[in-house]
Amino acid sequence: MKKAILYIPCLLLIFGTVQAVFGTAVAKSSAATYRVNISKDNPRLLKVTAEIAMNDDELYMSRNGAQQFPNRWAKFVRNLRVEDKRLRRLKVIDLGAARWKVEGAAKKVITIRYEVVLDHEKHKWSGGIDGAAFAKDWGVFYTGRSFLIMNGQDREDIKISFDIPAGWKVSGSWSQTKPNGFVADNLNDLSESMFFAGTHEEFSINRGGFELLFALGGKEIVAQKSKFRSLAQGVMDYYIDLMGGIPKSPPGNVFEKSIVIINSDSKMDGEVIGSHINMIFNPAGDEQSKIISKFIFAHEFFHLWNGKTIVAEKTTEDWFKEGVTSYYTLKALHHAGEINDETYFGVLNNLFYQRYSNDKGYGKQSMRDVADGFSKGEHWGLIYGGGLFVGLCQDISIRENTSNKKSLDDLMRSYYRSYSGTSKSYSTADMQASMTKFSGKDQSGFYKDYVYGVLPVPITNCLSKAGLDASIEKGQLKVSARDNASALEKAILGGLLSGNN
Ligand SMILES: [Zn+2]
Repeated sequence: MKKAILYIPCLLLIFGTVQAVFGTAVAKSSAATYRVNISKDNPRLLKVTAEIAMNDDELYMSRNGAQQFPNRWAKFVRNLRVEDKRLRRLKVIDLGAARWKVEGAAKKVITIRYEVVLDHEKHKWSGGIDGAAFAKDWGVFYTGRSFLIMNGQDREDIKISFDIPAGWKVSGSWSQTKPNGFVADNLNDLSESMFFAGTHEEFSINRGGFELLFALGGKEIVAQKSKFRSLAQGVMDYYIDLMGGIPKSPPGNVFEKSIVIINSDSKMDGEVIGSHINMIFNPAGDEQSKIISKFIFAHEFFHLWNGKTIVAEKTTEDWFKEGVTSYYTLKALHHAGEINDETYFGVLNNLFYQRYSNDKGYGKQSMRDVADGFSKGEHWGLIYGGGLFVGLCQDISIRENTSNKKSLDDLMRSYYRSYSGTSKSYSTADMQASMTKFSGKDQSGFYKDYVYGVLPVPITNCLSKAGLDASIEKGQLKVSARDNASALEKAILGGLLSGNN
């Protein structure tokens, strides 16, 4: 359990950095087409041919990741050749750090050819191999950033097609237009991407124009296909019901599709790139690691709503983005029948309370202040755990003050209605005002003490209002149902566990 938990913070924190690259709107279009070849004889060699109408004379690879090499992602690139339309070879000057200048290429249509050697497993990766590229007996995985050489900043409708061994298929994060053929909306969609090519299996769930595609590799993982499907359906339907619709991106960004790639390996890991999730899962792992895998998927998936549809003004709002996402993750898993009451309260203690109460800023620093800037990685407990308990207490408070007629769900829905598809962002002050509105009770004292302030969130006091006996014993959060709970308290508990719907 302990070992498995250690991987979570890296994964969950990655999301914050991913958010930043979703940014500028893309307006104009210029053509680019990529063809990717993988052969049966040497699946560890990716051959790329791209035809690009150049904006300027520079080629580059993604700036995200591979910081450990001076050459960045170009460490794995071989034999880059560039030709103009008349098949004349153009001179390529290596500028270092995965950037090249092509002499006389500006405003011309050029063809570039290069190879990517899948050697990534021989190196150390701070976020794990799952954010780079790897091979399995059943196929190969690449992130877009690991193999794409690009040009310009504004580009739309970029085509990517694959030439692969017979019997293989490609599951990619881009919009699929034909078997093994895709289109990326823009350069961000092109490179903040991932694909798996091989003999794996896939299934997809479609709801109202949004596709959730699963790619499953390894026979033990494939054997659990129906379990993954029911998990995905249960969680997705809960979120759509809760929020009142599918995730909707700010203008200029699109997420109509999210891919979840799961491969088996002995060590559990996970990475989020764009709105896509890559997970490495140990099918022989214990019950705890299975729960954590479900939690990671459900947490990252909810960020499409809380994080990308409802967008925070600054990282100081991460208590809401991360903490409230984790709260709804637990509720979604409980609602979908993936975890029972005991597991719910077990995770509340083992993962969240332990990390919260052992955070070095506990009782000394504000969960908002520690999320400002670079120190946030050191305060997972305060931000994720503290934020979850703020969400839980506020949910209970709204339910208690409205005879369980209103809840935090109403707040989520109202933010979905007013923020989705816009470039508006919320602040902690907005949340305080909304929670005051929905509970009908001034929340400024609560915010002053526990969100802006440094006092520990009064968790046991909150839980007691949901008909629970809650106490802290020897540093453990102990929770059990109280026999004499009132009807309202029982109703609040129902809402706390699975929501109203
Ligand atoms: Zn997160």
